[in-house]
Amino acid sequence: MRPVSAGFCCNNACGFCSQGALRAFRPRPSDAAVRCAVEAALREDRELAFVGGEPTLREELPAWIAHAKSLGASWILLQTNGRRLVYPGYCAALKAAGLDACEVALQGSTAAMHDYHTEAPGSFRQTAAGLRQARAAGLEVCAGAVVTRSNFRHLPELVRLAKSLGARALRLAAARPVGRAAAARDRLLPSPELVAPFLEAALTLARKLDFAAFAEDAAPRELRRFFAGLGECEPAAAPQAERRLELPASKPKPGAREVRAPRKRTGSELKAIFPGLFEDGAR
Ligand code: SF4
Repeated sequence: MRPVSAGFCCNNACGFCSQGALRAFRPRPSDAAVRCAVEAALREDRELAFVGGEPTLREELPAWIAHAKSLGASWILLQTNGRRLVYPGYCAALKAAGLDACEVALQGSTAAMHDYHTEAPGSFRQTAAGLRQARAAGLEVCAGAVVTRSNFRHLPELVRLAKSLGARALRLAAARPVGRAAAARDRLLPSPELVAPFLEAALTLARKLDFAAFAEDAAPRELRRFFAGLGECEPAAAPQAERRLELPASKPKPGAREVRAPRKRTGSELKAIFPGLFEDGAR
């Protein structure tokens, strides 16, 4: 599958965005340039993915999809934060143009968690509803989440949420120390040892629910065309850019290296500290 970039503009501002400053200094491609990119992609492959930034911010997107379809594209994927999909008429227009599937970014199992990552208040509400609207319009939908220090303990809840919203699969990928995340590693990047038990719990739950969830690029063959990959990153990426989620060979003690508070807090104390964190994200 070939990626076609719609430019780096986005209506989210994720703290881990690998594209970082590209948004500011790379001009957005013209309509003609994207059409040329579509044609070049289809000379190499019959499957393509529109990627960003956020491709739905480009008004030409339905026309680009129709252009790709008219040239014989056999599979067209949209990599999106899903916010504009909240509008049923927009989903219908994408479907009518020839779009097959959406890969939607879901960064938390609650509104507070998702919006914390996207730095865009209200984005969860639109993304979750957008995922449902896309399904209702007849589009295939898969979800992808970037695993950070602030959501790794909630990977099982993310599995439940993605399934309840109608996603066909969920991909979990570690935040990379590139783009915006390069300057915020301590805040964003979790220790793989701490993530492992939660990842294992999430994958076990997914199996019980008969739902496809996987880490990094371990997608089953039939699901690979739902995931377009990381795309272009801000140049001068840090050397340890290849940070990956892996299950441990032997089970580590959960949280063995965590610094713990001297006493456990009660549920109501935690709710007072993190209002909204425990809300049911599927509502
Ligand atoms: S990670 Fe995706 S949704 Fe978030 S700011 Fe970057 S392009 Fe936008």
